Amino acid sequence: MKTNNKLIVITGASSGFGLELAKEFAKDGYPLLLLARRIEKMEALNLPNTLCKKVDVTNKEAFEKAIREAEAVYGKTDLIVNNAGVMLLGDLATQNPAEWKTMLDVNVMGVMHGMQIVMNDMKERNHGTIINLSSIAGVQPFENHAAYCASKYGVTGLTRVARGEMSPFNVRVLSIMPGAVNTELLGHTTDQEIIDNYNTWKSAVGAVNITANDVAKTIKYAYELPQAVSLREIIITDTKQDS
Ligand code: NDP
Repeated sequence: MKTNNKLIVITGASSGFGLELAKEFAKDGYPLLLLARRIEKMEALNLPNTLCKKVDVTNKEAFEKAIREAEAVYGKTDLIVNNAGVMLLGDLATQNPAEWKTMLDVNVMGVMHGMQIVMNDMKERNHGTIINLSSIAGVQPFENHAAYCASKYGVTGLTRVARGEMSPFNVRVLSIMPGAVNTELLGHTTDQEIIDNYNTWKSAVGAVNITANDVAKTIKYAYELPQAVSLREIIITDTKQDS
C-alpha cells in the first residue's frame, strides 16, 4: 500500500472491472472518484473517502466538472483509469451504424476526454498515471468485432502516442488488454445469436475462470509499482483462452 494516497478516478465504476477496482483501492484507503451513469450502483458500495458522480464520459464538460469537484476535496488526480466502455458485437455488413457510433464515442472519445482533463496537471507536477482499458481486441481481430476492434485498436494507438508525449514528464500511460472476462459487457450486444455463440466458445475452451477481480488486482499492481516503472501494455486472459 502507498503511504501517501492520492486521488484515483475510475470511469465505469458501476459494474465489472471498474467496480472491482473501486473495492480493491478502497481497501487500501485511496480517495476515489467513481463515475458512471448508474450512480446508485456506485453509492451502494458505500466506500470510504469516495465521491460518486453520475457522468456520461462522452460529455466532456460534465466529466471535467466531476473531476475538478473531487480534486477540490482530495487534491489533484494521481491516477485515472479510463475503463468505461461498451461492446456491441455485430456483422459489419448488417449492424446498425448507431451501434458503431456508440462504441466510438464511449470507447475512444470517452478515453480521450479523461486523458485531456488530467494530462496538463500531471505534466506540470511531473507525476501521475493514466491507465486505459483497451482489449485483446485492440491488438488482434475477432469475428463480429469490427467496430469494437476499431474502437479498441484506437485506444491502443492513442495510448501509445500519449505515452511518448507524457514520458518526458515522468507520467505513465498504460494500456490493459483483457481477453474474455465475465462481466455485464457482452449483455449489451443486441444480436442474441452472437451472444450465444460467444458464450458457447468460452465454455467450449473453458475460458471461464478469470474474474473481474483478477483484472482489477493486476491494474492496481501496475499502478503501485514505483513511478519509474511503466508496465506499458498488459495482455491478460484466462489461461485457457485459445485466441
Ligand atoms: P461492464 O459492462 O461490466 O462495465 C462497463 C462500465 O462502463 C459500466 O460501469 C458502465 O456504467 C460504464 N459505461 C458504459 N457507457 C458509459 C458512458 N457513456 N459513460 C460512463 N460510463 C459508461 O464491462 P467491463 O467491466 O467488462 O468493461 C470495462 C472495460 O474493459 C471496457 O472498456 C471494456 O471494453 C473493457 N474490456 C472488457 C473485457 C471483458 O471481457 N469483460 C475484455 C476486454 C476489454 P453505466 O452503464 O452505469 O454508465
